[in-house]
Amino acid sequence: MNTAIRTHGFSESVIRGMTRLANEHDAINLAQGFPNFATPEVLKEAAVTAIREDVNQYAITWGAQRLRDILSRKYWDWYGMDVDPATEITITCGSTEAMAATLLAIANPGDEVIVFEPFYENYGPDTILCDAMPVYVPIALGQELDTDQLTAAFSARTRAIVVNTPNNPTGKVFTSIELEAIADLCQRYDAYAVTDEIYEHIVYEGRHIPIATLPGMRDRTITISGASKTFSATGWRVGTIIAPPPVTSAIRKVHDFLTVGAPAPLQEGVAAGLEQLGTDYYATLLADYRVRRNVICRGLAAAGFRCNPPAGSYYVLADFSDLSDLPDDQFSVWLTKEKGVAVVPGSSFYSSAPLECKLIRFAFCKTVDVLEEAVARLMTTRSA
Ligand code: GLN
Repeated sequence: MNTAIRTHGFSESVIRGMTRLANEHDAINLAQGFPNFATPEVLKEAAVTAIREDVNQYAITWGAQRLRDILSRKYWDWYGMDVDPATEITITCGSTEAMAATLLAIANPGDEVIVFEPFYENYGPDTILCDAMPVYVPIALGQELDTDQLTAAFSARTRAIVVNTPNNPTGKVFTSIELEAIADLCQRYDAYAVTDEIYEHIVYEGRHIPIATLPGMRDRTITISGASKTFSATGWRVGTIIAPPPVTSAIRKVHDFLTVGAPAPLQEGVAAGLEQLGTDYYATLLADYRVRRNVICRGLAAAGFRCNPPAGSYYVLADFSDLSDLPDDQFSVWLTKEKGVAVVPGSSFYSSAPLECKLIRFAFCKTVDVLEEAVARLMTTRSA
């Protein structure tokens, strides 16, 4: 056997693994974060029309013209960002590819990439794929960023910092003071900020600030987002990258060789959504998530979990120490098999599992009836 199998030293995704377990046991899947409600009609109709009109071949590698044009307008409307669709936008297969393509474009082997902990589980492996080194900086739950600790993590080897706001899994929305501290360090150490802003329109408290809008940051920020969460279309795999022209040019090369392009008809669907859905749409999206957040947080508290409502995103980390002595991974499997509610063990969001991790993550991107059923099942956890 002379075939190389490079596993790069990371294990399979725990989030996707929990989805498989949920399916095996017919459990309510509050593990992997995908909505159970419909993608807006506007997007679906436009995608179907595009398919019927035979927009079925490759889109331009860096993204369909119409989508890049409307995205540029949106970044202006939402954040006052002046984005050139010709040289500063790349459309990818989801923000997952966006993050991987970006890090592959900017990080050299041996570079360091700072990642806040807890983190969305892809960032570490993304860094390792580039033969770069993740450097983890903890942010204690419910706490402000410790700028001394962050400063200590920066060095001449730091190529980039990954900033995920609103945050998965904590729901933290970074404040302008925190972002300014990060921006200051990026400028001092000549590092890039690579953001994951996929939950930008799901903010309950505070407001979403793209770090690219801070003074001195536009030229050193790669702003990543996508259609998955804003348009409840996680399966479409349409991600977006805004970056200054030289960085975009490098990212486009990586993206070209990784995937050639994102699905052409679905890009038309997303373009139609951005064009036709206005402030009402975003207000309703948020209002609906606020209701879901209240249902799950109240339900979890009633069932004996300890949690604080997240400021953004659609996840809540809950402490189960009052309910079980099991470690978080075993408790998650038990909950899936015995109670029919799948969750993600908290330790999968940490580089090395804290010895006594008593956290699990619930994704509440589900209709209220499903959340209520999940809560009803969880109510008997205490007595188990
Ligand atoms: N971002 C979602 C989550 O954290 C989905 C992850 C995935 O599997 N792509 O659950």
